[in-house]
Amino acid sequence: MELEGLHHVTAVTGNASGNVAFYTQALGMRLVKKTVNQDDVSAYHLFYADERGSPGTEVTFFDWPYLEPNRLGTGMVGAIGLRVSGSGALEWWAERLDRLGVRRGEIKDRGGRATLPFTDPEGQRLELIEDGDGGVPWDRSPVPKEMAIRGLHSVTLLVESLAPTERVLTEVMGFRRAGSYALPEVTSREVVVFECGPGGPGAEVHVEERPEMPRGRLGVGGVHHVAYRTPDDEQHRIWRDRVSGAGLGVTPVIDRFYFRSIYFREPGGVLFEIATDGPGFATDEDPEHLGERLSLPPFLEQHRAEIEAGLRPIEPVPTGGFR
Ligand code: ZN
Repeated sequence: MELEGLHHVTAVTGNASGNVAFYTQALGMRLVKKTVNQDDVSAYHLFYADERGSPGTEVTFFDWPYLEPNRLGTGMVGAIGLRVSGSGALEWWAERLDRLGVRRGEIKDRGGRATLPFTDPEGQRLELIEDGDGGVPWDRSPVPKEMAIRGLHSVTLLVESLAPTERVLTEVMGFRRAGSYALPEVTSREVVVFECGPGGPGAEVHVEERPEMPRGRLGVGGVHHVAYRTPDDEQHRIWRDRVSGAGLGVTPVIDRFYFRSIYFREPGGVLFEIATDGPGFATDEDPEHLGERLSLPPFLEQHRAEIEAGLRPIEPVPTGGFR
């Protein structure tokens, strides 16, 4: 039994309309589900993914406008890596991001792969990584298919000390140490790469040991949690037993309607989730029309009127000017 890779990464936005505009119009991802945070129905939960909403391609956001800007530090995700394919893809993206006024860094080799770092308008740190494969590009994307973002590549965790996080990744979650690379402009220590399941793009966690950094504080532009894939309910229950047996506090299995979840905090401070691949986003919507209306799981449907009244409408915003 192995985790099959990254399932989704969930971050925080303070501006749902701007968030939809950026991820769909600038990045060309598909909004596959517009729902609410089940534990705080005053907040949208927005899911961007490939055309089908495949596990492993999703970046999702809670809309919490009252939070302060994220303070990056240990116990947090330092960057979300996204896959693009084809030679020249990063140069094409660099030009596109410049044209749209998106803040970006230079294309650099990182651990043997070309990487383009950039931030969304709220400071969320993202990276495009050239790797050649992944999910199914959205048919109606403003980004040409051959340049499309094809899913999650990796996440980078910032931790005060590598060893406790490494122990949970390898001894509890079945990750393997897959290599390391230097990041001399950032840290004198090697960044260690761990992989699970099939390994490689989509199944990597990079851990940066950064004892000099202050503890992070979650806010707008930061990552709330990272979720990993398991194929079915039976394995999901075994994972829960394993995490619990390792002495990590873990939630009961929670039915998120589109998948089932358990949550626990790894010792470095990052919140982890293990989620089932199914039932998926087409469970309550026609695959042709995913994300076009507010979806509510059955137990919230009866409260639709008051939930809708408590949400700020998502308005189109002018594109071009994502700084
Ligand atoms: Zn999640």
